[in-house]
Amino acid sequence: MADDLVANYQPSFESVEEERLHRKQRLAAGFRIFAKFGFEEGVAGHITARDPEHLDHFWVNPFGMSFSHIRVSDLIRVNDRGEVVEGNASVNTAAFAIHSAVHAARPDVIAAAHSHSLHGKAWSSLGRLLDPLTQDACAFYEDHALFDDYTGVVLDQEEGKRIAHSLGERKAVILRNHGLLTVGHSVDEAVFWFVTMERTCQAQLLAEAAGTPVLIDEDSARLTRGQVGAHVSGYISFRPLYDKIVREQPDLLD
Ligand SMILES: [Zn+2]
Repeated sequence: MADDLVANYQPSFESVEEERLHRKQRLAAGFRIFAKFGFEEGVAGHITARDPEHLDHFWVNPFGMSFSHIRVSDLIRVNDRGEVVEGNASVNTAAFAIHSAVHAARPDVIAAAHSHSLHGKAWSSLGRLLDPLTQDACAFYEDHALFDDYTGVVLDQEEGKRIAHSLGERKAVILRNHGLLTVGHSVDEAVFWFVTMERTCQAQLLAEAAGTPVLIDEDSARLTRGQVGAHVSGYISFRPLYDKIVREQPDLLD
């Protein structure tokens, strides 16, 4: 791991405005990355970033706007009552119900990501945790949960609280019959965990369709989790995705 990348982990900022802009740039890039990976389906899906000043407010995508069009200036800020306090758009009710509960339950969480990505939702219907089948899958070994319930679109905060409770101190939760939710100490981390978790679901679906996969043993899976599943690993793994999307779609920073 390059030393300069590690040194830049959790960069410091001169002002709260600078830190806010940094988070919003990562967030807008996260939506463009989600669009590129095909994680968008209608109006479903949201990534949130905690405001660095108003700690019970978060930034999120405007309801009904394609992930592939979202710019920094399109992001909206939502308070702890679900009111939009910055930006000219409404917020997805489910985004508030789920993400506000997660941000409230986990003060360490800066960002949370959720969408109805294809392999994530297919896997979620099995009601199982992911197995340590690959090196990448080990990021989630003993570090993800199953929300083993489905009762319709999440619209009330009580259900958001139950999801946050299932998540506990982990980096991700599989919402049964629904999709994936990941969190991180940075937007970078939450987005990267989502990307790699979706592909981990795809890999396990492929492997189990083809035969009987060999599992990585417990000790090796734990060791590997420490190597590929640390906060800094998620943060650094996001970097190439960010650099690529900004070069391809520089208007996201507008
Ligand atoms: Zn959803």
